[in-house]
Amino acid sequence: MSAELLTFGCRLNTYESEVMRGHAAGLADTLIVNTCAVTAEAERQARQAIRRAARERPGLSIVVTGCAAQRDPAAWRALPGVTRVLGNAEKLLAAHWAKDAPDAVSDIMTQRAVPAHPVTEFAGRARAYVQVQQGCDHRCTFCVIPFGRGPSRSVPAGAVVTQARALVASGYQELVLTGVDITSYGTDLPGRPSLGSLARRLLALVPELARLRLSSLDPAAIDEDLWRLLAGEPRLMPHLHLSLQAGSDLILKRMKRRHLTADARAVIARARALRPDIAIGADLIAGFPTETDALFAETLDFVRESAIPYLHVFPYSERPGTPAARMPAVPVAERRARAGRLRAAGAEAAAAFFAAQLGRTVTVLTERDGTGHSEHFAPVRLAAPHAPGRLLAARVTGTDARGLSAEAA
Ligand code: SF4
Repeated sequence: MSAELLTFGCRLNTYESEVMRGHAAGLADTLIVNTCAVTAEAERQARQAIRRAARERPGLSIVVTGCAAQRDPAAWRALPGVTRVLGNAEKLLAAHWAKDAPDAVSDIMTQRAVPAHPVTEFAGRARAYVQVQQGCDHRCTFCVIPFGRGPSRSVPAGAVVTQARALVASGYQELVLTGVDITSYGTDLPGRPSLGSLARRLLALVPELARLRLSSLDPAAIDEDLWRLLAGEPRLMPHLHLSLQAGSDLILKRMKRRHLTADARAVIARARALRPDIAIGADLIAGFPTETDALFAETLDFVRESAIPYLHVFPYSERPGTPAARMPAVPVAERRARAGRLRAAGAEAAAAFFAAQLGRTVTVLTERDGTGHSEHFAPVRLAAPHAPGRLLAARVTGTDARGLSAEAA
């Protein structure tokens, strides 16, 4: 009997949950809740899950980890059923998973390295995540992540290659490079290797790896190695997800982002010039403080003009202690309404992007229940079920706003 895991938030949390699954293998009647602090809603859902588990399963030992626990351990320790709180550094160390080990949350801002924690399996997932970086040195005015994850630090390339080899040996066909701010990769390593040079080295040293995908990129920090790789390496997937956050220069300045709309336009244009069929995704915040109707219209126009098919839109969420939380707020209902309009624009672009795939042959990484994702990360419904985790050539027979329908080619 092994501990159960409930994971909130980002791919990095998913990766770390697999590390904890290994460490907590011997713990019975234990639920690990790996929290996220990016939005108030993420924290609310974790609290709700903890209260429900404690109510429905008296005697269950609940261990809380993750960014929300790192930022306010006492608050999470006070919830019913919680027997231990571990910080983001401690949760990855076996010693803290001994049967009656105590709470342990150290000052994350003092972390200086990312110890390697090899993982060979991602329970129930067709693709695997490889951590290459941790933490963040930026201070976007809406964000608490640096205070949950600490300063930016990189996993040495050798450890990344070793991890990738282990996952490919376990049968994974697709790996996703992940972290908090992966475009900061290497700034703390000797010789300051770039993210692009890491990806090139990985693909060269792991020739069996079929598909490499990148998680979210800071549009202000995409390096020339990465552009060259994107231009010429078919194993690097034609899919870039950008941490845009807004399409208005004034709002971007108030967010303390490192790019303006002209930079974002140039990045999207360059990506499409290098890989005309490339899929672009973006994170956007709707209703950031001081965002007037006119400033919102700038973001909406930007999204429509850029035809970004994969939009992840979040209504702005106040985070305690952040500069943005002290700025004049947009009413919550208006934030949600604006998020809805951005999502609608994204859905239009997605439908058009999917429609352009009709009749083409795509390569699908199969998942459960006859589904999968193409190299462009388009959701695919297959005519027949296939074993998960396989690469399948499939001809697109239909499309709609949700994705592609396809049959084995
Ligand atoms: S880059 Fe900005 S939004 Fe991203 S984790 Fe760092 S502070 Fe947060």
